[in-house]
Amino acid sequence: MTRPIRARIDLSALRHNHAVARRHAGDASIWSVVKANSYGHGLMRVAKTLADITDGFALIELEGAIQLREAGIRQPILMLEGFYEAEELPAFAEYALTTVIHSRAQAEAFCSAPLPSKLPVYLKLNTGMNRLGLDADEVPAVLEMLERSRLAASVTFMTHFADADGPRGVDWQLAALARFPPAVQRSLANSAGLLRHQGTRADWVRPGIMLYGGSPFPEQTAEQLGLLPVMTLQSELIAVRRIAVGDHVGYGCTFTAQRPTTVGIVACGYADGYPRHAPNGTPVLVAGQRCGIVGRVSMDKICVDLTDLPRKVGVGETVTLWGEGLPADEVAAAAGTVSYELFCALSARVPVIEVREFG
Ligand SMILES: *Cc1c(COP(=O)(O)O)cnc(C)c1O
Repeated sequence: MTRPIRARIDLSALRHNHAVARRHAGDASIWSVVKANSYGHGLMRVAKTLADITDGFALIELEGAIQLREAGIRQPILMLEGFYEAEELPAFAEYALTTVIHSRAQAEAFCSAPLPSKLPVYLKLNTGMNRLGLDADEVPAVLEMLERSRLAASVTFMTHFADADGPRGVDWQLAALARFPPAVQRSLANSAGLLRHQGTRADWVRPGIMLYGGSPFPEQTAEQLGLLPVMTLQSELIAVRRIAVGDHVGYGCTFTAQRPTTVGIVACGYADGYPRHAPNGTPVLVAGQRCGIVGRVSMDKICVDLTDLPRKVGVGETVTLWGEGLPADEVAAAAGTVSYELFCALSARVPVIEVREFG
């Protein structure tokens, strides 16, 4: 028997979530964000599933973009951080990639590159996030430089929201945008902007987490947003034991039984992508019944408290770590993180099973 852990990726849920994005996007076009191996869901798997319904793909990794082109993806591909060294630019031209330019230095490198053809450019503007992006006073010179170089096939303004999912919202950043020259085309919204702030749709939206069925909002569930889980991480109980009052479980003895306790051992650990810092009580489903983890998450195992389960369970019982029946957002919150991190951390040793309900 093989180790029972697997990640089920529901491709119809992915298409459903894209349709939700489409409904919110109105007339705006959609960059499906597929960086970080499509948030752990598999770059090519996601791209092929969305290829006939999305308008473009956005990512960070040049190797990934080349893979998309070599697999026959024809839509625009947006490189969210642009290029890191000018030597990459010939590949950008060869594979027809849209580059972000986020700094003056990057603009200078672009304009002096020996490019065989023009490239579409996304000019990233800093409106308050203060990571990447040009400040308002830098933009006129960069625009002039791009014009003189004749290397930009088009220029789209782009910015990124710092708190579209939180109390500060987006208005302060939209106000900051007004300090920049007017743009022909603009791209502003991530999932949170798209779902909550209609005024951010502009010409192209950039949903990521919502496509994968995660909620960008701490106080609103994915279900309430009409989203379906795409990744379901499941394993099995590989042992069950009874321990006595005062007995401990796992490394560091961080759980001590206050009553006779039935403990289930699950074949899933931090080497599979389960967060090591998940505390006692982090929810888990065993045969569809909710219980909580006990003791420290180790490399290959977690332990769960089966004592109160209404239906008794044994070795071989299915355990859902997150996904169908147990939102990743809820597990993430218990572990002090976000579903983005859980998804991205899914490790290469976990076999993936694709589920499809469409033809
Ligand atoms: C990752 C990313 C997104 C997608 O954000 P979500 O919160 O996952 O929707 C959008 N825009 C940029 C620039 C990004 O880096």
